[in-house]
Amino acid sequence: MEIAIIGGGIVGLALALNLEQRGLVCHVYEAVPEVKELGVGITLLPHAMRELALLGLQEALEPLGIENEADPVAALRAYEDARSAPAARVVRTNRTAPPDFINIRVEELTGDRPFDQLDDFISQQELRALSDRYKRIAGYSIEDLATPAARSAT
Ligand SMILES: Cc1cc2nc3c(=O)[nH]c(=O)nc-3n(C[C@H](O)[C@H](O)[C@H](O)COP(=O)(O)OP(=O)(O)OC[C@H]3O[C@@H](n4cnc5c(N)ncnc54)[C@H](O)[C@@H]3O)c2cc1C
Repeated sequence: MEIAIIGGGIVGLALALNLEQRGLVCHVYEAVPEVKELGVGITLLPHAMRELALLGLQEALEPLGIENEADPVAALRAYEDARSAPAARVVRTNRTAPPDFINIRVEELTGDRPFDQLDDFISQQELRALSDRYKRIAGYSIEDLATPAARSAT
């Protein structure tokens, strides 16, 4: 007997592996021509993980995932450990280069008086340099994003 499975989603593929383990021949028919990633991740709850483990996939899956802590206090601690460094970076960035840094500089240059032409006080080049400096400090710079090692060194 050969079995046709229509749809190569997680259910179709899990069923195919399951049947294969029982010695049954099956064919999976999938409508899309190419399997692609969608979204940023997937939560595998214990009952789903149990099924995948029974299919022999646990070893392959574990290194790809982040295991949730069953203990909520430990989960909060793990979250805090992951959160504190980036949060400290945001605070430091806001102190050394606050998000309204361009307004602050313009206020300095104009003596906080009304003006008609911003270009009379600051050139586009200087504005761009200020903006680039902020992006570098805040970690938005495209060059820094392209070289994570360089970014983490700053
Ligand atoms: C945004 C989003 C986030 C989600 N996050 C989670 C999560 O974190 N954890 C979790 O457990 N669940 C999550 N889900 C739910 C989970 O994606 C679904 O429960 C699961 O994908 C269902 O699997 P399935 O194989 O039944 O269906 P599908 O994954 O939809 O697969 C069905 C497949 O059949 C194919 N198909 C359809 N019609 C035909 C046809 N006529 N011929 C051939 N092929 C066909 C489709 O192209 C598709 O590949 C999420 C769902 C969404 C939308």
